[in-house]
Amino acid sequence: MRLVLLGAPGSGKGTQASRLKEHLQVPHVSTGDLLRAEVAAGSKLGLEAKGIMAAGNLVSDEILLGMLEDRFSRPDTGGGFILDGYPRNLAQADALGRLLQRIGQPMDFAVQLDVPTELLVERIAGRAQAEGRADDNPESVRKRLDIYTSQTAPVIEFYRQHGQLTVVDGVGSLDEVFTRIIEAIAPSRDVG
Ligand code: ADP
Repeated sequence: MRLVLLGAPGSGKGTQASRLKEHLQVPHVSTGDLLRAEVAAGSKLGLEAKGIMAAGNLVSDEILLGMLEDRFSRPDTGGGFILDGYPRNLAQADALGRLLQRIGQPMDFAVQLDVPTELLVERIAGRAQAEGRADDNPESVRKRLDIYTSQTAPVIEFYRQHGQLTVVDGVGSLDEVFTRIIEAIAPSRDVG
């Protein structure tokens, strides 16, 4: 199964991706996690990305694509993957399409976790208290939500137009949302 998970910051992508990874037995590729690992390692890329991420801005398309190509060159993605955090703009969607075509691994589904903005803000505030992520401060959160609306929402439209999108209601308990995703990607189901 080759899945792309789409959703705003706070929509629960990361949490659901971890569960899906166990369920589907494919690796979870999170660009946010890959970047945070670079920051933690203090690599050149990490140093470059650190401030950009803390401010809630997008790290450059070039860096992201390099990181992704690197990740997809590892053999564990050969049996499928759950991609989370990418693509975040149309240029990245285009780059991803080319990359997956090149490696002969076209995506099966783009799944959007749909959550109203008020709830996103509430969830991120809760997470900020629990986890203390550097980019969960109010200013950065506002920025990330703005970028989501202006740059990532068009990606969702793009997949919709290509008949690859499936929208899942992201409001509810973790179990409820998980069950909805599993049902949405069940083999018999049509995408729309
Ligand atoms: P969230 O979904 O909560 O915003 P992520 O863990 O997906 O968090 O991403 C954290 C940060 O990492 C983003 O705000 C951005 O700075 C950077 N990042 C992650 N993925 C991308 C991407 N595809 N393009 C550009 N920047 C990215």
